[in-house]
Amino acid sequence: TQSTRPQRLLGAVQKNATRGDPRSVVKAIDHFCRNQEWAMNVGDEKGCILDSVVSEVNPATVLELGTYCGYSTVRIASLLPPHAKLITLEFNPDFAAIARQVIAWAGLEHKVQLVEGASGDWIPKMKEQFGVETFDLVFLDHWKDRYLPDTHLMEECGLLRKGSVLLADNVICPGTPDYLEFVRSSPRYKSQYFKSHLEYTKVEDGLEKSVFLG
Ligand code: SAM
Ligand code: MG
Repeated sequence: TQSTRPQRLLGAVQKNATRGDPRSVVKAIDHFCRNQEWAMNVGDEKGCILDSVVSEVNPATVLELGTYCGYSTVRIASLLPPHAKLITLEFNPDFAAIARQVIAWAGLEHKVQLVEGASGDWIPKMKEQFGVETFDLVFLDHWKDRYLPDTHLMEECGLLRKGSVLLADNVICPGTPDYLEFVRSSPRYKSQYFKSHLEYTKVEDGLEKSVFLG
């Protein structure tokens, strides 16, 4: 039977990364995606920007929208302070199964709660199901037409506090025009663009960091 790209990506991790070493997992995935097959991870270049925002915010609670194979999950979780919690949402069960193994290979399963299902269904249940008050950091990297409605939903559900940081990937390529226009023009956000390139390419893309002002 034919294997899938996520299965081959997991194979590259198991072959080339050291168990319990998140940096080696990230490196194995980047090597696979630059040399074998492109995949939709945030990637090494934008990943460095993601790392610096995570380190600066030093969050106790993080929500990631869109896990895919767990690449960004591993980057974020490896930088979290002790006792911090990362919830990551993925609605494709095949991707979720791969991500669980990638996260476990990195030795980070105790820091990560991977939740299977659609963001629109889970965001309203976050408080009761996971006992979260608010998120210090949200990484938006799921389907691009969901960034704006899910941001409104997080606000409505009281999941953002004054100072919560939204970090959105792919705001140029494939692009999230409605979301960008909203965070840049709303007086409730202070927004900043970090120019970079689409993962594993030379095409312009970037991350938008938006601080919720309450
Ligand atoms: N953040 C990952 C990384 O950098 O390694 C990449 C995530 S990939 C670009 C987007 C993922 O979001 C896909 O795996 C897709 O199945 C998932 N997804 C898309 N829309 C979703 C939604 N509304 N709820 C949950 N998952 C979603
Ligand atoms: Mg992305």
